[in-house]
Amino acid sequence: MSDRVSRAGPYVSAMTALAEPAVLPPRTNQEQPMRILTATSRTQGQRASDFHWCIEGEVVTPVRVICDRDRELGPDGGCGCGRSFAGLSSHKATTTAIVREISGYTLEDLTEAVRSYRQQAGCDDGQAEAEAEAALIAETAARYDEGTILELRLDDIVVRG
Ligand SMILES: [Zn+2]
Repeated sequence: MSDRVSRAGPYVSAMTALAEPAVLPPRTNQEQPMRILTATSRTQGQRASDFHWCIEGEVVTPVRVICDRDRELGPDGGCGCGRSFAGLSSHKATTTAIVREISGYTLEDLTEAVRSYRQQAGCDDGQAEAEAEAALIAETAARYDEGTILELRLDDIVVRG
């Protein structure tokens, strides 16, 4: 998480030293491709409890309600909700997600995908909730390098080792 900031540090300070402060353009999110979480079959089978029913490459969300069964039995419990991401297009689940940078993809695009997903799932509770979930997906993905494989262990998102 913090390693990204520290790697950006020397670059930013060198740029600041070379440029007139007034000339240095403000850094905006548009300068870097946005990172999102997508379904991947990579590393599937590493855990005996793995499954991958999503469409390869579709956007996934880590937001879901974990049932009492998996709460009790842990992330490798019989249901699977304790370890799975939900595919925004397929409405299916996968235990593995990969961080992807998508050029031209915006937070508005992601918000619309989440809103549509929530609506189709019968959870059409408004734009604010869709924006919040999209922001959470983007903020989660932004904490990791592109290509990082992530998994869910109940409420924790962790890098697959
Ligand atoms: Zn469950």
